[in-house]
Amino acid sequence: MTTALAAVAPAVPAPTRLWTPSRVLVTRSAAERPHGQRILARLEAAGVDAVELLPGDRLPNLRGDGDRAAFMAAKQTLAVVVPPPSKRRLQPIPPSADWRFDLAEGCPAHCQYCYLAGSLSGPPITRVFADLDEVLGDLAGYVGRGAVTSGTAARGDEGTTFEASCYTDPLALEHLTGGLATAVQFFGTHAWPGPVQLRATTKFDDVAGLLDLPHGGRTRLRFSVNAASVARRFEGATSPVAGRVAALAAVAAAGYPVGLTIAPIMPTDGWREEYGELLDAVAAALPPGADLTVECITHRFTPGSKATLTDWYPRTKLEMDEAARTTKRGKFGSVKHVYPRETMAELRGWFETALADRLPTARVLYWT
Ligand code: SF4
Repeated sequence: MTTALAAVAPAVPAPTRLWTPSRVLVTRSAAERPHGQRILARLEAAGVDAVELLPGDRLPNLRGDGDRAAFMAAKQTLAVVVPPPSKRRLQPIPPSADWRFDLAEGCPAHCQYCYLAGSLSGPPITRVFADLDEVLGDLAGYVGRGAVTSGTAARGDEGTTFEASCYTDPLALEHLTGGLATAVQFFGTHAWPGPVQLRATTKFDDVAGLLDLPHGGRTRLRFSVNAASVARRFEGATSPVAGRVAALAAVAAAGYPVGLTIAPIMPTDGWREEYGELLDAVAAALPPGADLTVECITHRFTPGSKATLTDWYPRTKLEMDEAARTTKRGKFGSVKHVYPRETMAELRGWFETALADRLPTARVLYWT
């Protein structure tokens, strides 16, 4: 921790929301792994008693009959598993990072625009992976091989970047798994063959267990934030934005590089005022000298994510009107619906100016 940051360290915020799953399934292979055993100990310490140790590695059928009750039951279920060996081969994940590895898949929160809706299939249970120690041990083989970091001037000298939150929110689970803390310590203390950075993003604020870790400045913790009305209406069962901002300030004061993931940006009524208030709150909370990056992601949806989200949240007021959007086609025929060019330009122009005014030392990594 630098002296300048230590001098203004804020009080450690108490977590505002800790998930208690109503059912936990642990496969035999997961229970045999050291990380699986650490998770079992944490579950016991957290007083979670609905833990079922399975005799084999197959999860029971969790589809139910597809009704609301089955959806909610799946959202309340945590499974501790060892993923298939194919998962151990990492995938590139631009523009967020060079490589992705997964601590878990799924999330207990209820964001009505959830990014996972278009990418994960099956019942929305949260699967946490018990082979973490082996996965971490493989990462050194990817150092120096990424394309994102080296190709982006704003990344500076971050080295090869590894994203751990593509398919989950690690802090939503941290009190039950400790997986993020294990990864942070590993990145901070391992003898790497070149510079590296672990990256994670969250809508939660349970950071107390991370503050004293030997992170070595090799983990950038980013907090996903939004305008007050967007968070209030669409981000169910997450920590309040004020809690996330306090958590951001606390980890920055503990010497972590930090980030804002402003997402998904929406031009709702009064958006300039609300995003302005958000940026003001961040500027007021951050300790001087904090190493801050910003990623800006506008709202978009695909035919698949819209179908899943309207199934999960049938009464949602989230705007997903294809007629009000521009359609972008990917290389392999994929379709996504984004804001029209004029709206994008207006949003982007405002954010560029507002970020330069309010957070002048922040590095904006990308706008999309
Ligand atoms: Fe989805 Fe992230 Fe919300 Fe969890 S916190 S429901 S992963 S958008």
